[in-house]
Amino acid sequence: MHSDVIIIGAGLSGLACALRLQQGGLRPRIIEAAPHPGGRIATDERDGFLLDRGFQVLQTWYPEARRMLDYRTLDLRPFYPGALVRIGDDFHRVSDIWRRPLQLLEMIRSPVGSFGDKLRLLRLRHHALEGDLEALYARPESSALEYLARFGFSERIIERFFKPFFAGVFFEPELSVSSRAFEFVFRAFALGDTALPAGGMRCIPEQLAARLAPDSIQYGCRVQRLLERQVLLDQGERLSAQTIIIATEGAEAARLLGKQPRPVRGTTCLYFAAPEPPFDGPYLVLDGSGQGPVNSLLCPSNLSAAYAPSHQALISVNVFGAEQHPDVLEAAVRAQLGTWYGEVVHSWQRLAVVQLPAALPVQATPVVAPSQALQIQDWLWVCGEFAAPPSIHWAFASGNQVAEAVLNTRHSGHIQEPG
Ligand SMILES: Cc1cc2nc3c(=O)[nH]c(=O)nc-3n(C[C@H](O)[C@H](O)[C@H](O)COP(=O)(O)OP(=O)(O)OC[C@H]3O[C@@H](n4cnc5c(N)ncnc54)[C@H](O)[C@@H]3O)c2cc1C
Repeated sequence: MHSDVIIIGAGLSGLACALRLQQGGLRPRIIEAAPHPGGRIATDERDGFLLDRGFQVLQTWYPEARRMLDYRTLDLRPFYPGALVRIGDDFHRVSDIWRRPLQLLEMIRSPVGSFGDKLRLLRLRHHALEGDLEALYARPESSALEYLARFGFSERIIERFFKPFFAGVFFEPELSVSSRAFEFVFRAFALGDTALPAGGMRCIPEQLAARLAPDSIQYGCRVQRLLERQVLLDQGERLSAQTIIIATEGAEAARLLGKQPRPVRGTTCLYFAAPEPPFDGPYLVLDGSGQGPVNSLLCPSNLSAAYAPSHQALISVNVFGAEQHPDVLEAAVRAQLGTWYGEVVHSWQRLAVVQLPAALPVQATPVVAPSQALQIQDWLWVCGEFAAPPSIHWAFASGNQVAEAVLNTRHSGHIQEPG
């Protein structure tokens, strides 16, 4: 069977790419290994609970997400701008005072960092928000830890806030990620909400897939390898197209291209059900002690009731890495949380342990924003994490970028029509 364009993968980059091509008058066909769209942005249902596949959120500032998504229909439920940090025997609230100015006094008194650290936060904010994204990705780079040290931040605030908060975003406890990746994420937290769609993260890809022509996505089909203007499916079928676009995870793109995969970071998310949430409100709770497996904890059902059946709460606990045996990890998590919330944690019912060994590529220096679409052959292009930094914004941006380039190439007649 012949198509205009075959896209391998219905993650956010593949969906964005397909939508732009469709808008440009082409009939893209997506070949997707999974039975649903969204790739890593996914939500499973279990016993009436919605379990996002790992702790994932939408940052509403993302310029490409604002362009691609209908936020109103997603019915976004924002987190509190800041976090609760567990230090010693207590929880301390950290607030973004630009968005919660009434919390200024509480922030100044907070033991999360020194008074000087709070002033340094002003400088950091000013610096990280300066210039456009192109300027951000052109700045000199170091590790995020070195970058924070250059601002003069104390070890106290680095250990109690920066590491648990930002390391949780990159699934990397030591903040050795690029300062560019750090600034990008800092900007996203500072300039918009961090939110969950009321019906779970899967609503994001579902919204996009619904805009594609019927039957544009062929689910449950894995591309085994590429041939000249053809893909060979696991089932043995060959599909041909004038243009083929790889929109898979980075490692899979590398495999299809015969290249070395980049190293990746893993994470594990433990889901528990309880009659009551351990706290009220749309908070992200961080471990500021660095002692124990827990990085963060949240109650998605505090943000949206759809995440749990009535009279029940959903608790999500996130840890670095995906190597530990689930039972061993669960015991260690319960032991740590017992010191936070008391004996009640031992009555929480385990719903799932979601282990994601290849959640994100390592974002060590250099991290580069793609200035142009990645073309491998005149018929072969790549978008997604092989071509761009990881994130919802860059998945959309790279998918759109490749689609624009394909449309331009066709309009300028560089691609021969099939005979
Ligand atoms: C736990 C977790 C939390 C995250 N949190 C955030 C967050 O809070 N904010 C944020 O911005 N980003 C977050 N990310 C990153 C973000 O989800 C990804 O960067 C983005 O979704 C990647 O989209 P993609 O389309 O490039 O790839 P993917 O989502 O990986 O999609 C690739 C698709 O290709 C399919 N596929 C692969 N191989 C084949 C094949 N051979 N044949 C056919 N189909 C194939 C896969 O099944 C998949 O559907 C998170 C990621 C994870 C895992």
